[in-house]
Amino acid sequence: MSDSVSQQPRPAGPAMRRSSVGVRVGKVMVGGGAPIVVQSMTNTDTEDPASTAKQIAELARAGSEIVRITVNTPAAAAAVPRIADRLAMMGVEVPIVGDFHYNGHQLLEAEPTCAEVLAKYRINPGNVGFGKKKDSQFAAIIEKAVQYGKPVRIGANWGSLDQALVATLMDENAQRAQPWEAGMVAREALIRSAVDSAARAEQLGLPRDRIILSCKVSGVQELIAVYRDLAARCDYGLHLGLTEAGMGSKGITASAAALAVLLQEGIGDTIRISLTPEPGAPRTGEVVVAQELLQTMGLRAFTPLVTACPGCGRTTSEFFQELAKTVQTHVRAKMPEWRVMYDGVENLTLAVMGCVVNGPGESKHANIGISLPGNGEAPSAPVFIDGEKAMTLRGEHIAEEFVRILDDYVARKYVTRAG
Ligand code: SF4
Repeated sequence: MSDSVSQQPRPAGPAMRRSSVGVRVGKVMVGGGAPIVVQSMTNTDTEDPASTAKQIAELARAGSEIVRITVNTPAAAAAVPRIADRLAMMGVEVPIVGDFHYNGHQLLEAEPTCAEVLAKYRINPGNVGFGKKKDSQFAAIIEKAVQYGKPVRIGANWGSLDQALVATLMDENAQRAQPWEAGMVAREALIRSAVDSAARAEQLGLPRDRIILSCKVSGVQELIAVYRDLAARCDYGLHLGLTEAGMGSKGITASAAALAVLLQEGIGDTIRISLTPEPGAPRTGEVVVAQELLQTMGLRAFTPLVTACPGCGRTTSEFFQELAKTVQTHVRAKMPEWRVMYDGVENLTLAVMGCVVNGPGESKHANIGISLPGNGEAPSAPVFIDGEKAMTLRGEHIAEEFVRILDDYVARKYVTRAG
């Protein structure tokens, strides 16, 4: 058993820490004082290198700092080096993580280039193999990680718990004078699956600074309880995410509710938002949500965000909503270029307000704000720059003019990066 793991089972109160152990995943540092890392996962068929490389590039350009792909078949493992080649040709450097279940030991053995190219392996102790083979197959994957110098995420999942461990803990529980309720036993099984597997990985030679843990559940309160406990019992880097969060506003709300509580308590070194995309929606939505969660919490800055009022009876026109969307879309589209060119541009703040009630006040708090005319107000839109009224826009082309003012401000205000 590693001295980094406490076996005191519970209860565990809130833990105020991020991992002191930094884990290098390709060029990205997770934990050890590094900023919280945003990651994502593809939903393409990994056997198709063209579509998988394309989606990885889209996720990376949207801001995903690590991208995970499933490696589930020999053909998928064989495709991994070709995916890496395509990304290199596109100039995309994002670390790629291989997600292995059941046959990972075979795939890593059969495809050494895949084992070499991946920046990290992810395994689930409940899915690494069956029966007596489980331990040897777990060991085989860890030995590959040691051989190739790769970190491993040991990711236990509520939906695929190690059933032998559950049975053992159920038996232990039955001996207690006051048995725990079933949910508590299941939580304990999830945590023990992760921390015991990490301790075993260390015994097999994987250094502590190459281990990241996760314990994924799909309920908000369960996730908070599990991670508080997990954080109190180990100092490994922690990957946070609500698994199977769902679609649309439900998935976003549930993920944000759970992760915000934990991040606020200092728990979590890397996050993924497991959204089910709406039909036809881009996969990059999960990256945007992850970034906005961290940015609205003040933990990181990625992209200038637009403050906009919700609108009310004072604004019967949809113009201000369209302007807010136009500005946010413009900023997101420009960020890949701005990020390279301008130092600190991600901290820019913008406001688009619907009338004179809160418009000028909120606009003055932003770097650039515009207060559009509400019902019965003069058809003019004062623009505020760094707290001062700078000009007034009128007429048909307010949106275009405001975007031009924004572009000019960025070019003037932010120092051009060297090189
Ligand atoms: S700023 Fe004006 S339009 Fe916007 S919500 Fe407030 S009162 Fe309504």
